[in-house]
Amino acid sequence: MKCGLEIHVQLDTNSKLFCDCRTNYQEAAPNHNICFVCLNQPGAKPYPPNHDAIEGAIKIALMLGCKITPELTYFQRKHYDYPDLSSGYQRTSIPIGFEGDLNGVRIREVHLEEDPGQYKPDLGIVDFNRSGIPLIEIVTEPDMTSPEEARKFLRELIRVLEYSGSARGEGTMRADVNISLEGGKRAEIKNINSIKGAYKALKFEMVRQKNLIKRGIEVKQETRAFLESQMITVPMRLKEEADDYRYIPDPDLPPMLAEEERVEYVREHMPEPSHIKTERFVKEYGIPEDHARVLTSEIDLADAFEEVALEVDPKFAALWMRDEVKRVVYYNKLNFKESEITPAQLVELFNMLLDKKITTKAGQRIMEKLPKNSQMPSTIAEKMGLMGVVEEDEVQRAVRQAIENNPEAVKDYYNGQKKALNFLVGQVMKLTRGKADPSHTNQLIRDELEARA
Ligand SMILES: [Zn+2]
Repeated sequence: MKCGLEIHVQLDTNSKLFCDCRTNYQEAAPNHNICFVCLNQPGAKPYPPNHDAIEGAIKIALMLGCKITPELTYFQRKHYDYPDLSSGYQRTSIPIGFEGDLNGVRIREVHLEEDPGQYKPDLGIVDFNRSGIPLIEIVTEPDMTSPEEARKFLRELIRVLEYSGSARGEGTMRADVNISLEGGKRAEIKNINSIKGAYKALKFEMVRQKNLIKRGIEVKQETRAFLESQMITVPMRLKEEADDYRYIPDPDLPPMLAEEERVEYVREHMPEPSHIKTERFVKEYGIPEDHARVLTSEIDLADAFEEVALEVDPKFAALWMRDEVKRVVYYNKLNFKESEITPAQLVELFNMLLDKKITTKAGQRIMEKLPKNSQMPSTIAEKMGLMGVVEEDEVQRAVRQAIENNPEAVKDYYNGQKKALNFLVGQVMKLTRGKADPSHTNQLIRDELEARA
């Protein structure tokens, strides 16, 4: 299987690409964020392209390792007839960036275009609030060989877009997928609105084409639509060629020059892309790739890790931040930035753990208190009575006491009920006010019960 993707995501600008209308199209009442330009009224001329959109597109192209088209960039009219497009053509730029790479998948080109309006065929109405919002389109070469690879690529791409700070997220994604199997022709699938959708559509299409080839039926070159509700693809129309769009340069928009100075300015100020950061974390801090991937899942989390790693063993910090910070943040339905957990809090907590001033269990409980809490871990530990690690003989005493106090659980354990062991561990934790180490306690109870058997 060979698969290539064309991904559209909205750029996060305040105003539209060719007019001053706002871009908060979902909050506004239908057909309120509109003007003569984005409605394409006769005689209305586009304003010069939105500066933030151009700069955002250059930034994203650079973050995807693209070369920037050095000469003139201009907009073309791509003609097609559909109710969401009042002009009958969509303005789309020639490539702004080309020949990039994201984790081994070649990026053919990156360009800018305008979003059409929203047509609701069931109601027969069109809302033009979205018309003219800048979109970035990223086109890959057919370098992916399975639905899993395509899914992995899309996840990484969305991370790069989020890192850029110039694009909206997966929620505004629309993707077209090209897929061909050996011995068949290329089919294009449209209407894909999520990473999961892309994965399901490719899975379905792979099986469908495989079955046709197996039965000796020709796979047609065609455009198919993905029906998300049923997770299947259905024929739309035979694939049009580029000629059918009758591209012409837009005579209303003068060509632009991507000045080298401007490109260099963007390059110097852009964030390090997530995939490059992941590689660097592995090399620089000697942590496993899966830890690095989790730590770079959010730019603020990655930055916090680097601050913490200046003062604490990076491997220890990586493990705790991957497991405990992520767990607590996720549980509170926040992202790391929203949790307001600071590197200073983490450094203190990790040092308390490394100096054995608190137990692992206590560390986890303190971590749970950190989101949206400006208190330092030592203060929290004092208040909760979590300072200190219990001595070995205190744990031993608690183990014996838990066994003697709970003969039923002991009987269950001997009868092979594993849950009884967890219950006894819980009793020891209670007796030691949560300061005993659970896995060590587990071992101690088993040893004691085996000895008594
Ligand atoms: Zn407008």
